[in-house]
Amino acid sequence: MDQKFLKLSDIPTGNECLVVKVHGHGSFRNRIIEMGFVKGEKVTVIKNAPLKDPIEYKLMDCHLSLRRSEADLIEVMDVTDHAAPDDTALYNGTLPGDSFKEIIRTHAHTVNVALVGNPNSGKTSFFNRAAGMREKVGNYGGVTVDAKKAVFKYKNYTINLIDLPGTYSITEYTPEEIYVRKYISEEHPDVVLNVVDASNLERNLFLTTQLIDMNIRMVMALNMYDELSREGAVLDYHFLEQLFGFPIVPTTASSGVGIDQVLERVIEVFEDRSEVTRHIHIHYGEGLEEAIDRVKTPIASNKVLTDKFAPRYLAIKALESDRMVRELLEKAPNFAKIDETSNLCIQELTREYKEDVKTLITNAKYGFIRGALNETFTEGKRKRHLTNAIDTVLTNQWLGFPVLLFFMWVMFQATFYLGEFPMTWIDNGMAALGDWVGRVMAPGPLNDLVVNGIIAGVGGVLVFLPNILILFFFISLLEDTGYMARAAFIMDKLMHKIGLHGKSFIPLLIGFGCNVPAIMATRTLESRRDRLLTMLITPFMSCSARLPVYILLVSAFFAAHRGLVLLSIYAAGVVVAICTALLLKNTLFKKVSAPFVMELPPYRMPTLRNTVTHMWNKGVQYLRKMGTIILFASVIIWALGYFPQDSGFAYGTPEHLEHSYIGRIGKTVEPVIAPLGFDWKMGVSIVTGLAAKEIVVSSMGILYHAPDTEENTAALTESIRPEFTPLVAYGFMLFVLIYFPCMAVVAAIRKEAGGKWALFTIVYTTALAWVVSFLVHRIGILF
Ligand code: GDP
Ligand code: MG
Repeated sequence: MDQKFLKLSDIPTGNECLVVKVHGHGSFRNRIIEMGFVKGEKVTVIKNAPLKDPIEYKLMDCHLSLRRSEADLIEVMDVTDHAAPDDTALYNGTLPGDSFKEIIRTHAHTVNVALVGNPNSGKTSFFNRAAGMREKVGNYGGVTVDAKKAVFKYKNYTINLIDLPGTYSITEYTPEEIYVRKYISEEHPDVVLNVVDASNLERNLFLTTQLIDMNIRMVMALNMYDELSREGAVLDYHFLEQLFGFPIVPTTASSGVGIDQVLERVIEVFEDRSEVTRHIHIHYGEGLEEAIDRVKTPIASNKVLTDKFAPRYLAIKALESDRMVRELLEKAPNFAKIDETSNLCIQELTREYKEDVKTLITNAKYGFIRGALNETFTEGKRKRHLTNAIDTVLTNQWLGFPVLLFFMWVMFQATFYLGEFPMTWIDNGMAALGDWVGRVMAPGPLNDLVVNGIIAGVGGVLVFLPNILILFFFISLLEDTGYMARAAFIMDKLMHKIGLHGKSFIPLLIGFGCNVPAIMATRTLESRRDRLLTMLITPFMSCSARLPVYILLVSAFFAAHRGLVLLSIYAAGVVVAICTALLLKNTLFKKVSAPFVMELPPYRMPTLRNTVTHMWNKGVQYLRKMGTIILFASVIIWALGYFPQDSGFAYGTPEHLEHSYIGRIGKTVEPVIAPLGFDWKMGVSIVTGLAAKEIVVSSMGILYHAPDTEENTAALTESIRPEFTPLVAYGFMLFVLIYFPCMAVVAAIRKEAGGKWALFTIVYTTALAWVVSFLVHRIGILF
């Protein structure tokens, strides 16, 4: 609100003021306006004591009283200092000096307009076009981090346009949603301009239904209208605006079409001149409507609340167990009554419909949208035609799943087989580099640090870079073509069985590459519950960092059945994840979250450039890890194995290592892991693997290194063979799969979900790894 204006409640006794604007939701405004508080009207304050409520006013020769909370929402201009005019002069005559009419015209002609809509619906394009500014517009969500404001003239109005962050809904899941919601309810913009993507109506209208519940003045910009027309679709928006009760204007914001018409409608709504504007109710069905009425009654007795928010909106939100509305209601003197009524209704509804109330309300909203579109929308044929044809095959209930499995199979095959060639080159290259550096550098601790610490440690990990890049290439390809969304769609039913959503499939799949970007990808999930659950099981997706351990042990002990054994480890991870999800679903995460629309974007031809860029962006994460954590850990591990030098054993002998610091650490944990059949060297590998799992192999390289052999993977395979049995090797692989993901993943979980869940992950995964390996070892010994 502009600083120049005052609230009616702030005007002291005896002063005179002119009404500039009435804020608040629809029914409140109507009541106040019916009382006569219309723009330009003169109000005299009869009695306003600081703590007195209500306040007494004189308006059009009538005395009336307003509650302070009501007077808070009326914007006025104090005119006491001006020569007191009589009413006729105010309207007809010109006053000496200032004309109040003029003042009102300029000052009351400031319209605060907030842009609200889904990400990528074209809000920023509209904002820039309308304000005539050039600001960066991106083709991805999240460009608008904070609200941006532009002030410009339209006819004789000053428009304050605010570009709010994009949201799919205004509940309380994401910071953007909370921001938008706060903005609407606290700053009360005069008109909300709902920008919708007309080529994706059903999804976009969900937010609209929430705005309808809030009973605020709005106009809809039916943006991307060019795309809708190009697809050959037809929308009878004249009829739709009748149905919805607010003006709808087709726009193409990117080229500026329709902007003026929108502004025209905005002014009409602002001036209460709009012919279509009326408040509608979304009908939620008999059961819900009855509950809404019941909850509304105790809410409605709190005038302070209902001046600001529509009671129906508060009742709906209370039934949705909305946290922010609850906090609001807690301030009401009869909160106990409200709470009791809403809890009772929630219980009854849940029992009757076997669904939680949030889901019921969401379903009803989509029912409302489908209903509205059914009457007004004719699907286009042209553009989506191919997409539809492909979708009938790819998301077919019988074909979809085998096709998905086939794609996964191709992806993993390519990752491992194509990756083998560069892997050998890097392996040999690093060995040669180590040799060369070892020869040219003066012998001593520094030489050893560089060769056996840094080159061996980082080299052992660098080897897997090709695999990781190939895997990321495929994942990016799946995302860029639009197939990833289909994969989520196909997996949805299955994922629901373990309490997850189809969309969780994407982070889980990325988890096979690296758990860190996977944890970050959970952001695409709408509910916190889904995000958490997905995050907690992601570490069981065997990331590529664990692959070196498997490759080493599988080649050493299961050479005949390499593929099968490797597959069994990956499958074990998936099984553990499923069991964990089922466990959490039935304990900590009982509440099922509301369903949401799974968009099926049109298929796109991927470009090599985009896919490689996306692959690279994901790969950088891995490279960064190599340059930091792995480098650092390699040096530490080397030092722990190198020192102390005065143990009495020659450096490089197994005895020296056994008495080194790292050997002592291994010995300390040995009793804990002995029941699993692990010895102290494996203990050392496990401890070092806390930093990053690739380090397990580099530690093994140092620990099991036979002094007279060349330093490469083949030599290591030979030297570990006498030290393990196949059973121990298998148990060890399972342990490496399940225990403590790695520092980077724990840090990512902490950042996304909080320290509590990071701690949970650490304890749960490590305990589970122990139990699984123990069972495998004990049962295996029997055979
Ligand atoms: P925001 O996330 O809602 O702010 O959306 P943007 O304004 O950033 O727009 C997202 C993308 O859609 C950009 O690439 C725009 O150029 C494009 N765009 C915006 N409006 C239209 C439109 O009316 N038609 C078409 N075809 N593209 C549009
Ligand atoms: Mg934007």
